[in-house]
Amino acid sequence: MESRLIYSAVFMILMLVLLLCAINAGRHYKALGMAVARLDLALIPPILGNCIVLASKSATVSMVGYYVFYVGMNYTLFELMRFTRIYCNQSGYGKKLPKWLKYFLLADAVQLLLNIVTHHAFSVEKMILDGTDYYMMVPHIGQIIHRFIVIVAYSLAILIFFLATTHASKIYRERYSIILTFLVVIGIWESFHLVLREPIDHSMIGLGAFGIIIYYFSIHYRPLRLLDRILSGVISNGSDAIYIFTPRGRCIWTNKEGCYLIGVQEDNCDNAPELLEYLFGTKLRRGNWSEKHMTGGGDSIKYYLLENKEVGDAENMFSGYYLRVRDITEEQLRLKREMYEATHDTLTGLYTKDHLYKLILAEVRSHPSTGFMILIVNIRNFRVLNDIFGADFVDNVLTNLAGYLTDHLSRRSSIGRIGGGDFGILIPKDEFNEHKVEKILSDFAIRGDAADYPIQIQVGAYEITRDEPDVVTMFSRARLALSTITDEYAKKIAYYDDKIRQEILWNQEITAELTEAIEHRDIRPYLQPIVDRNGTVVGAEALVRWIHPQHGFLAPFKFIPTLEKNGLIAEVDKYMWRCACEILNEWKRRGLDLFLSVNISPKDFYFMDVPKYIKDLVKEYDIEPGRLRVEITETVMMNDSDKMLRIMNELREGGFIVEMDDFGSGYSSLNMLKDMPVDVLKIDMKFLGKSDNEQRADTIVKNIINLSKELGITSLTEGVETLLQYNGLSDMGCKLFQGYYFSKPIPVEDFEQLIEPDVKAM
Ligand code: C2E
Ligand code: CA
Ligand code: CA
Repeated sequence: MESRLIYSAVFMILMLVLLLCAINAGRHYKALGMAVARLDLALIPPILGNCIVLASKSATVSMVGYYVFYVGMNYTLFELMRFTRIYCNQSGYGKKLPKWLKYFLLADAVQLLLNIVTHHAFSVEKMILDGTDYYMMVPHIGQIIHRFIVIVAYSLAILIFFLATTHASKIYRERYSIILTFLVVIGIWESFHLVLREPIDHSMIGLGAFGIIIYYFSIHYRPLRLLDRILSGVISNGSDAIYIFTPRGRCIWTNKEGCYLIGVQEDNCDNAPELLEYLFGTKLRRGNWSEKHMTGGGDSIKYYLLENKEVGDAENMFSGYYLRVRDITEEQLRLKREMYEATHDTLTGLYTKDHLYKLILAEVRSHPSTGFMILIVNIRNFRVLNDIFGADFVDNVLTNLAGYLTDHLSRRSSIGRIGGGDFGILIPKDEFNEHKVEKILSDFAIRGDAADYPIQIQVGAYEITRDEPDVVTMFSRARLALSTITDEYAKKIAYYDDKIRQEILWNQEITAELTEAIEHRDIRPYLQPIVDRNGTVVGAEALVRWIHPQHGFLAPFKFIPTLEKNGLIAEVDKYMWRCACEILNEWKRRGLDLFLSVNISPKDFYFMDVPKYIKDLVKEYDIEPGRLRVEITETVMMNDSDKMLRIMNELREGGFIVEMDDFGSGYSSLNMLKDMPVDVLKIDMKFLGKSDNEQRADTIVKNIINLSKELGITSLTEGVETLLQYNGLSDMGCKLFQGYYFSKPIPVEDFEQLIEPDVKAM
């Protein structure tokens, strides 16, 4: 077949492909996309020019073809310059391309076109190709100039690409070198054509291919090596060790950290799988998994997070996997430390309350068949210890006790510090032995400078029942048991039982109902007469009674101890004093010459200024202070005797008669009596009556009476139940008497009834 035809067809196809490339590249709006599109379009005219020359059989058409070719070539170079500038911009050399070059190219194009009139650039000469006429170009001076400019421009483009290739970072070199190679190849190709003066310009094929290649490299080609490099750079610089494996588990790459971790070279990591397995004691395998592992021990302990990930190709075919090993030691140690701090008491190192409760719940639940007990170990008078001996001493006690208790507990028990001086313990029932615990507690002492200081420790115990209340309730039950220990030394352990439960419910009930009971006057005074040696009623003691709507008649022992504990006793007493004043006021009005004794609880002194309150009351009810006698138990003297002496003196100075109640029941001594500013001594027969030796009791009472007489204190015996007692005491010199022999405490109206004849007699 005719070669002219074949080449024409090839050129046509090339032009079509270039057009398509240009359209496609133009869709990429970025500067490079547009530059490629324009260059590919610019490549069409030279090829088209050649096509025209090839196809024509007339001199004129051939001339047109040559014009299109040459001017098109200038246009191509013009766009090549633009493309080079943009493509090589990254390397910094793109901008080096001289801008003036485009004016030369333009001037050259004009010069070539002038050939139409001047014929200075080229002409055509007829020859025979494939047996038909063919017009070959004959160069003149203009054509030489054109060639020179083209060569200069082309060489400059090559130079820029050359500089970019040699000077750019290694990873970009490929990008430039491919285009540089093509530029050189086409340059040589075209030069050959010029030198050989062949009629058909074969290099046009190279030119077309160049356009396509540029399109491909600029728009579609993703430099994988570049990507590789960047990725491995990213990974290499990370702090994690990374190992890459083939699907069959061969390690093909690892980064610096990876080499360091197992001691291999970067280019030889064949042993990595075995070394890693040895280090972490885990089998390396494909799949997506993550595990935490520990290496070393003691101070050199290290924690690692191993993350394995499979990698698939575009079709999701498994193509390998990689293992990332992250050193999480710091994080783990911090977590551990934080965890420890959150769950342990800083001073004693025992569990905190919250953590202990959690552990107990878990323990009890996971051992449903084991019987457990909850213990609260309490340091008695913890606050007092703090006040007297200071915080350092108390800290010392706490740490010592914590260690001491821990030493005595088995691993099946849990212990924590649940409050100031309280430790909480969960202990299996079969390990709890009351005698042993008591012994352990009484053996505990703090080694001080001089002598061992005995610390009083007591235990509230609760046996966990099957219905398993929540831990907070368990502890509050143990605490309730603890609160029942009142005597300081004898009892060490108290158990929560049904009695305590009932008591607690009862306490709650009366506490809740108290205010209303006072308002409704369900709480009221009963009066017990006090008589003199003649048997005349001279006064009465006001004793509280609660006539409860549901529970009926309640004696003081049913509610006073509770109210003394929670301080509400002050409310009852204030109310009782007021009642007494009301009665005295009424008696005054009726002309009754009687006194009333009221009780003052030791707790009252904490809650109010008792003398002031009582003074205000007698003023309010307009009664003589001497008519209201106040009974203070001798135990109040124990706590703060100075303060009590002041108060008693203040009361006496206010005109009140102060009575010492229950004399002989507490720790008072006869010796103390001489210092006590009291007017009346109430000796309780109940304390003496129990004595086996009545003779001895008599002697004691006789002496107390004698002593008080000498001290100018009136003696009053209470609990007089028989005529014999009355006569005996009377003989001993006792002035006043109170007891069932005369009357039980009775309602006010009954009392008034009782004294009515006396009133009438007056
Ligand atoms: P107390 O002040 O020593 O009151 C005397 C108690 O002995 C009264 O008991 C009285 O009923 C009882 N008693 C009187 N004569 C005899 C007798 O011959 N034989 C026997 N076996 N007992 C006799 P009560 O009324 O049950 O009061 C008990 C305690 O409750 C009182 O002891 C007092 O400490 C306290 N109390 C009573 N009322 C009040 C009050 O209004 N305020 C305060 N703070 N305590 C009160
Ligand atoms: Ca009394
Ligand atoms: Ca008494």
